[in-house]
Amino acid sequence: MPDTTPTDGPSPADGIRPDTLPTGGPWTGAAGRITGLGVSQGRAAGPVIRMAAPPRLPAPRTVADPGAEAAAVVKALGAVAADLAQRATAAHGEAAEILEALAMIADDPMLREEAEGRARDGLDAAHALDAAFTRHRDALAALGGYLAERAADLDDLKHRAVAFALDLPMPGLPSPGHPYVLVAEDLSPADTAGLGDDVLALITARGGPTSHTAILARGRGLPAVVACPEIAGVPDGTVVGVDGMTGEIAVGLTAEEAAEVRERDRAEKARLAASHGPGRTADGHPVKLLLNIGSAADLRPDAEGVGLFRTEFLFLDRKQAPTFEEQVAAYAEVFTQAETVIVRTLDAGTDKPLPFLGLPEEPNPALGVRGLRVDRLLPAVLETQLDAIAEAAKATGTQAWVMAPMVTTMGEASGFARRARAKGIARVGVMVEVPAAALRARRLLQEVDFLSIGTNDLAQYTFAADRQHSTLADLLDPRQPALLELIAMCAEAGREAGKPVGVCGEAAGDPLLAPLLVGLGVTSLSMAPVCVPAVREALAALTLQECRERARAALS
Ligand code: PEP
Ligand code: MG
Repeated sequence: MPDTTPTDGPSPADGIRPDTLPTGGPWTGAAGRITGLGVSQGRAAGPVIRMAAPPRLPAPRTVADPGAEAAAVVKALGAVAADLAQRATAAHGEAAEILEALAMIADDPMLREEAEGRARDGLDAAHALDAAFTRHRDALAALGGYLAERAADLDDLKHRAVAFALDLPMPGLPSPGHPYVLVAEDLSPADTAGLGDDVLALITARGGPTSHTAILARGRGLPAVVACPEIAGVPDGTVVGVDGMTGEIAVGLTAEEAAEVRERDRAEKARLAASHGPGRTADGHPVKLLLNIGSAADLRPDAEGVGLFRTEFLFLDRKQAPTFEEQVAAYAEVFTQAETVIVRTLDAGTDKPLPFLGLPEEPNPALGVRGLRVDRLLPAVLETQLDAIAEAAKATGTQAWVMAPMVTTMGEASGFARRARAKGIARVGVMVEVPAAALRARRLLQEVDFLSIGTNDLAQYTFAADRQHSTLADLLDPRQPALLELIAMCAEAGREAGKPVGVCGEAAGDPLLAPLLVGLGVTSLSMAPVCVPAVREALAALTLQECRERARAALS
C-alpha cells in the first residue's frame, strides 16, 4: 500500500498540553507517552482526528429574533443534506445509496417546515430542530416494521443538524481527506465495519480486549488500542505513534519519528510474511492454524481453513433481513476459496446488535436473548440460514461445517444438531462459551461432531466480567487457571471421544497463550489472519512436551 500519510498536516506541537502528557518513554526523545490496552497488533503513525459524540442539548435560549432562528434551522438542514450528498458521491455501492437517502430525508420539505414553524413560535434553532426530528422519529417508530427501523436514521440526522446549529463538530465518522488515526470514546461494531481506508489506527477511551470492535479491527489488520482514557487530552491534529501490541501511544511525534514508526511496522510485517506452512510444534505435532473471518475479504490464500466465520459481521448495518439468495451468495463466496470452513450461525445480541432482527431492548443483554437463544423468538431466522448454508455447500461441492453460538444445555445442542443434519449439513458442532457447556463437554460431544471454545465469552461468563468493560480487563485475562481448567475439560472430552476441540476466541491468536492451549490438548487454533505468523513461530519453537509443561504450570 502506498504511504499517503501527509507530511504537511498539522504540526505535532500544535495545541499539545505538555502539563497533561508524560514525557520521555521508549519511543523517541521529545514525544510524550500514554498507554491503553493493545488489542490489534501493528504500528502506525499519523494525525489524530476525533469522532465527535452526539451533541448535548443545552437549556433553551431566550429568543430575540425568531426569524433568525428559523433561518438558522434552514441553514443547518441544508448543511447536513449537502454534507451527506457530498459523502455519497465519494462512496460506493450500498454505502452511497444509504448516504443519498439520508441526504434526501434532511432535505425533506415537511421536516423543514415543521422545524422552521417551531423556531417562529419561539424555540431557538437547536431546540426547534430537536423537536421536529423527535416528532417525526416517534411517528415513524409508531408505524412499526420497516418504517420503525428508519427511526435510528432520524436520530443520526437530528444529531448532525443540532450539532451544526450549536456550532459543534458533526458527529459520526470523520472524513478529513487524508489518512488519520481515529480517536473515539467508543465505537460500535457497525462504525468499525464502515471505516474507510484512510483510517491508520484506532484509539478508544473505553472498550475491552475482546469487544467486537477490537475483533473487527484485528480482522482488518488495523492497529488498535482501547481503554485509553488519557487520549481525551490529546488534541485533534497531534501526530501520534500507535503500537497495537503493547498499547503504547507516543504523542507529538516529529515527521522523522513518524516515518520511523511506519518503517518498523513495514519491517515487522515483512519478517512475519516470510513464515509459511501448516502449524506444528518443534517435534512435528500438527495443530491446525485456522482463520477467524467476517467475510470472504478476510481470507488468505495459504490458510489451513476457516475456524470461525462470524456470519453476523456480514449484516451488522442491515436494516432489513438478508434474503436466502444473498446468504447463499455470501457463504458460497467463502466456500469456493477455502477448504474447511466452520460457519457460525448468527450470533446477534448484546454488543453485536443486528437491527433487522428488531430484538426487544433488555436490561441485561449479555445474559439475555443472544446467539442461539434468538431462535426462541425468531425460529425462521435460523431455519433460513441453515437452508442457505446447505444450499451454498451443495452449489460449491463443499462439506459445510456449522456451529451454534452460546449453547448452554444438552437440549439446545441436540436440537441444533438435529435441525442442521436434517438440512444435509455434514458436520455439526457447538461453541463452548458458557461454563455450563464446558462442564458438560463430554455429554455435548455425544450430540455433536466437534466443539469450538469461544474464550472471549467463556471468560466473560466465568468471571462475571463484561467483555467490553475497560476497567475489568484483568479479570478477563485468559491465563487464569479457572478458564484454563474449563478448556482442559473440553480438550479431554474431545480426546476421549476422538472428536476435534478447537479454540476460536482471541486467546488462540496470542503467541504466548497458543502453546499453552496446545499443551492443554486443543486440536486447532482459530484467529484473526494477522495473528497467524506469530502463532506459527511460537509453536514451532516448542515441543509438544514443552507445551504440556507450560499448561501444567499455568493450571497450578
Ligand atoms: C468468543 O466468544 O470467544 C467467540 C469466538 O465469539 P465472539 O467473540 O464472536 O463472541
Ligand atoms: Mg462469543
